[in-house]
Amino acid sequence: MLNIVLFGPPGAGKGTQSQKIISKYNLKHLSTGDMLRSAIQRQTENGVEAQKFMDRGELAPDEIVIGIIGRCLDKHNGTANGFVFDGFPRTTVQAAELDVLVGQRNSSVSLMLGLEVEYDELILRLENRANYSGRADDADITIIKNRIDVYNQRTRPVMEFYKEQGKYVGIKGMGSVDEIFQRICNAVELVENR
Ligand code: AMP
Repeated sequence: MLNIVLFGPPGAGKGTQSQKIISKYNLKHLSTGDMLRSAIQRQTENGVEAQKFMDRGELAPDEIVIGIIGRCLDKHNGTANGFVFDGFPRTTVQAAELDVLVGQRNSSVSLMLGLEVEYDELILRLENRANYSGRADDADITIIKNRIDVYNQRTRPVMEFYKEQGKYVGIKGMGSVDEIFQRICNAVELVENR
């Protein structure tokens, strides 16, 4: 199985690149952000709880997102070639739990691809995205900046977790969508040929 953790700050291009990766390698896309927005729309208990955090650009509670991912892995167990985890894990607790969840299914995380994008470019992309994403958390510069701060404080350490396991590959996330995708494919193919 090919299990890819796609990592990077808000606006790094995780969603766009996920779509290209899943179609080339025939993987399932697991975006906790998308799943939480769907839970909010359906006004489930988890959705109502998570929204309080998402509206401020904070992270939803670990137990909620871990529960969501566990149920998704069960749903696709035995039927998928692997997964692209997009926006998960975002804390070291989530990272440790992901190892347990995939380990219980006789699998493991293959690699983490970290999209590296400069701060000013992230702000520009997110402000631009606000014009078409319909996302409340893209529409307010204070919330955008808070999401990047939260990334730096709580999520960046997850990179170290995978570096220690020798699984981190940094990908320059500037340039055209296709240029970035080519860098990703080069990194994936190195792992596949290992
Ligand atoms: P995203 O679509 O990945 O940008 O996520 C949007 C928002 O959903 C984030 O700002 C968080 O509030 C929440 N969220 C998504 N994934 C996670 C996660 N793995 N852990 C905690 N909160 C998350």
